[in-house]
Amino acid sequence: MLKDLQEIARKIAEYKLCDACLGRQFAKVEHGLTNVERGRKIRQILNLDRVDYKDCWLCEGLMGEIEKFAELVVEELKEYDFKTFLIGCKVDEEILMKERRIETEYSESIKRELNREIGKIVSKKLNKPADFKSPDIVAIVNTIYDFVELDIRPIFIYGRYKKLKRGIPQTKWYCRKCRGRGCEYCNYKGKMYEESVEELISKKALEMFDAKDEEFHGAGREDIDVLMLGNGRPFILEIKEPRKRNIKLDELQKLINEYAKGKVEVSDLRYASRHEIEKIKSAKYPKIYRVKIRFEENGKINEAVNALRGKIISQRTPKRVAHRRVDKIRYKKILDIYVEDLKMNEATIIVKAEAGTYIKELVTGDDGRTTPSLSELAGVKLEVESLDVIGIEEGDENEKVEGV
Ligand SMILES: [Zn+2]
Ligand SMILES: [Zn+2]
Repeated sequence: MLKDLQEIARKIAEYKLCDACLGRQFAKVEHGLTNVERGRKIRQILNLDRVDYKDCWLCEGLMGEIEKFAELVVEELKEYDFKTFLIGCKVDEEILMKERRIETEYSESIKRELNREIGKIVSKKLNKPADFKSPDIVAIVNTIYDFVELDIRPIFIYGRYKKLKRGIPQTKWYCRKCRGRGCEYCNYKGKMYEESVEELISKKALEMFDAKDEEFHGAGREDIDVLMLGNGRPFILEIKEPRKRNIKLDELQKLINEYAKGKVEVSDLRYASRHEIEKIKSAKYPKIYRVKIRFEENGKINEAVNALRGKIISQRTPKRVAHRRVDKIRYKKILDIYVEDLKMNEATIIVKAEAGTYIKELVTGDDGRTTPSLSELAGVKLEVESLDVIGIEEGDENEKVEGV
């Protein structure tokens, strides 16, 4: 040991430090030793007496409790499935202040040592590796009050859903009066609708992953009275604080489809990552719709449809959503449109339009807010009988159609 280091060590040792705390102040001087071993070596060189953990000026016994902290972590992790973990810790502010008083340029922090040493024991006991980049679980040891908090990485599942029954909202819709607590208005259910696509899909997932909460992220949404057919709408289901992690998704898919039979059907389930949420939420996929329209008097339906093909329409925010959307004019392209069926007082029309096109208003004109509209071009009043999404075109990201 160099002379000037010896001088520093002698000064620091005046504080009466346990071997771990003494050794830690010289952690960067030589590698391959634990701080306890390093402290013991320094003590021998300087011919100093050993200081018990509980008498240590700096840690006040903390470094003698590592085994106990590791036990707490192991106990807490018992109920969880995981492959990798990481340890974090909270240390008394007073200890951290003392640490700042004696630290040298060779010191390691007490937190770092605690994390590493607790981690080593946990890793050995559970036979699982620590992971510094993206652990399944972070166990945070509160060394002041002796408890462990877990931060559990959520699970993300990508899939596509079809909605086969009208009247089901995409997500849970809390009661607008009580906001979920339950009141007379909502019949003490806390929500406006009995079920939702979100709940129909997540119920079995929550059971299988043994989790309490989830969040549903859809690639856009259809109105409550609109069916979602064809290849289905992409979504990501986020499972929060799962106790189980390794679920076979084809089994989950089967269970969901049995449970939601006749209402919702899922396909293409696979594990995903958090960054895919943003991707599917911001994606501007063109959509294909089947619209059944009704009319009292015959108008020029065929001519109107032909005139709209490839046309850019102007849509001011519809009256029916004006209370929750900013009032502005959007320009949308009708990529394709044709008549599938035409009878006396009704017609079925297939429309492919840019993301965000209001299809009901494309038909009715919304009192002139959407123009041109089918009603306007046909010269008669048209009403929407039913509307289904029959396809979502998920082309190459670069090809996505932007609003004009
Ligand atoms: Zn100590
Ligand atoms: Zn209520």
